[in-house]
Amino acid sequence: MLGEIRGEVRFKEPLSFHTSLRIGGPADIFVVPQDVEDIRHALMFADREQLPVVVVGGGNNLLVRDRGVHGVVLKLEGCLGRAEFHGEEALAGAGVSLSALIREAAALNLGGIESLVGIPATIGGALAMNAGTVDGWIGDFVSAVYFLHPDGSLGEFKPAGAFGYRAFHLPASAVLIGCRMQLHRRPLPEIQKEIRARLKQKKSTQPLALASAGFVWKNPAGDLASRLIEKAGLRGKRINGAEISSKHANFIVNRGGAGAADILSLMELTRERVHSHFGITLETEIRILGE
Ligand SMILES: Cc1cc2nc3c(=O)[nH]c(=O)nc-3n(C[C@H](O)[C@H](O)[C@H](O)COP(=O)(O)OP(=O)(O)OC[C@H]3O[C@@H](n4cnc5c(N)ncnc54)[C@H](O)[C@@H]3O)c2cc1C
Repeated sequence: MLGEIRGEVRFKEPLSFHTSLRIGGPADIFVVPQDVEDIRHALMFADREQLPVVVVGGGNNLLVRDRGVHGVVLKLEGCLGRAEFHGEEALAGAGVSLSALIREAAALNLGGIESLVGIPATIGGALAMNAGTVDGWIGDFVSAVYFLHPDGSLGEFKPAGAFGYRAFHLPASAVLIGCRMQLHRRPLPEIQKEIRARLKQKKSTQPLALASAGFVWKNPAGDLASRLIEKAGLRGKRINGAEISSKHANFIVNRGGAGAADILSLMELTRERVHSHFGITLETEIRILGE
C-alpha cells in the first residue's frame, strides 16, 4: 500500500525539518501525499498495520518531542494546494497556505478574511486550530469542511457550532482535506492597506524573526496568559536554547540548539509559577506530539 503512494515516503524523517520551532525527533514513516488517493493509501496502510496517524500542516503550532513520532506522519503542506474562487466563495485545499489564499483573493477584489493576516498556516492547520484573532476566527468564514474518515471515505461537515476557542471538533482521527469559505467584495487597495497595518502591528508585538511556534498557552477567561507570565517574572527566562520571548511572553523561541525537553521544562516552570502567583492553571494551546 505504501508502494502505491505517488508522493514521497520517507523513513526516520527528522520532524525538526517540518516545524517552525525547528525541534522534533524522527517520524517512523513520513508521507507527503500527492493527492487524496495517496492520503487514502496511507490511512489504509496505517489501519492495516495498526499504526497511529498524525497530520502535520505547516508545523507552526507544534512541539514534537525529541524521541519523535511513532507511526505514520502525513504532511499536507505542499499537497492539496489549490484554491478556486466562485463568485464570493473560495474552495481551498487543506495544503493551501493561508497567506497565499488571502493574497489570491485580494487580487480578485475579495476580502473579509483580513483578521487572518500574518498567521503562518495551511488551511488544514488553520481549520484544526480555528486560527484567528479577536477580530475574527477562520470558523467565522467557513461554510463547509471536507475531510476523510480513517477508512478513507469522504465526509462533509456544515460546521455551525463545531468551532471553539482554538479548536475544531472534527470526527476522531479525520484528515481535513479542504473547505469552502465565504468572502466579500472589497477593493484591492483597501485590502492591501489593512494587510500592511496588521502585519506592522504583528511584527511590533511578536517575535517573528526567531524560530517559534504560536501561543504556548490559551488565554484564561478574562485575562491574557502573557500578562500572567510577565507578572510571574518569567519574561526572558531561558533554559539552554529555549527562551520565553521578551517581546511577547506567550511565545517560547528557540535561540539555537533547544530541544523539546528544554521547551517542556520552561512550560512546566511557567505553569507552576503562574499557578502559585495567581491560582490559575494554564492550558496549552501549542499541540504536543510524540514520545
Ligand atoms: C510567529 C507565529 C505567529 C502566530 N500567530 C498566530 C495568530 O495570530 N493566531 C493564531 O490562531 N495562530 C497563530 N500562530 C499559530 C499557528 O500559525 C496556527 O495555529 C496555525 O493554524 C497552524 O497551522 P499549521 O498548518 O502550521 O498547522 P500545524 O502546526 O501543522 O498543526 C496544528 C494542528 O492541526 C492539526 N492539523 C493540521 N493539518 C490538519 C489536517 N489537514 N487535518 C487534520 N488535522 C490537521 C495538527 O495535527 C495539529 O494538531 C502563530 C504561529 C507563529 C509561529
